[in-house]
Amino acid sequence: MSQAFVDLRSDTVTRPTAAMREAMRAAPLGDDVFGDDPAVNGLQEKIAGLLGFEAALFVPTGTQSNLCAILSHCQRGDEYIVGQMAHCYRWEGGGAAVFGSVQPQPLNHHSDGTLALSEIEASIKPDDAHFARTRLLALENTLGGKLLPFDYVQQATALAKKHGLGRHLDGARLFNAAVAQAAQTGGSALAEAKRIAGCFDSVSVCFSKGLGAPVGSALCGSREFILRAHRIRKMAGGGMRQAGMLAAAASHALDHHVGRLAQDHALARRLADGLAGIEGLQVETPQTNIVFVDLTGAAREQSAALLKHLAGRGIRATGLYRLRFVTHLDVDADGVDRAVAAIREFFRR
Ligand SMILES: *Cc1c(COP(=O)(O)O)cnc(C)c1O
Repeated sequence: MSQAFVDLRSDTVTRPTAAMREAMRAAPLGDDVFGDDPAVNGLQEKIAGLLGFEAALFVPTGTQSNLCAILSHCQRGDEYIVGQMAHCYRWEGGGAAVFGSVQPQPLNHHSDGTLALSEIEASIKPDDAHFARTRLLALENTLGGKLLPFDYVQQATALAKKHGLGRHLDGARLFNAAVAQAAQTGGSALAEAKRIAGCFDSVSVCFSKGLGAPVGSALCGSREFILRAHRIRKMAGGGMRQAGMLAAAASHALDHHVGRLAQDHALARRLADGLAGIEGLQVETPQTNIVFVDLTGAAREQSAALLKHLAGRGIRATGLYRLRFVTHLDVDADGVDRAVAAIREFFRR
């Protein structure tokens, strides 16, 4: 079936499926601020169990989840080591600094998304009154659609542990990472998710991205850690009441939408393959569900015109010199082919 719009701006744009809406409608509800919502409690137990943690906390957004995590790991005057392009450094309004007086120590990424182990080690400050106290390493997987190599994740988190740092994973797209990793190892996606999560003291996952739920993220950690995060969630205004309707959607997504992420990855490759060889476009081979396309040479100034051309054909994307196309539950092969055809049409003119 041909869709009216092919929305490739983000995997956050998905609408709940009919089955997900039914799960939401049927959710048993209570007041979660009193700890009474069965659907929220069930989701928290489910995600904690899946990822191998003692406890979890349902939060409205990934941003709040990362904030609760950083403020639970760190005190005022502490710092966290993080990548320049990491969401919890670059894209969250400086929340850890604003609300927690926690200073970031950003490091540059290698092209594969990793931070050099030597730079992580060198940025850990000695115990000296001149310095902020280095307390935490925060990684992100996937980062810009890239799967961090698992042996790197093991090495970086082991290094952090050796120096007594906490280890947080912004796993907004952890299940995309797990599905991509499973394709390499032959393991199951859930087993790979657990293996990645097992390297960290806390993990945040988004249900509102490729998993297709309308709203919500979860923060996982030890029982004691989640108690601290729970207090911070309250301070941040994230204590929700009959949130079980949202938790039920997230729970449905965990049950039904993890394996299908492989389809999103295949569609991202289809899109990248379809754009190969167009003069002025440099297409990065996608590892998961995000395709980055750099406009080069004379095409460099044409992104606004291209996006307008696409919008006129019902195709939505974002970017300036670097366009981003994200595949998800509400995009099919026909939609991808329409996007490819429209982009090719633009460059033929
Ligand atoms: C989307 C995203 C978040 C959080 O997003 P919200 O819009 O606040 O839910 C955090 N980290 C990464 C890597 C993300 O992609």
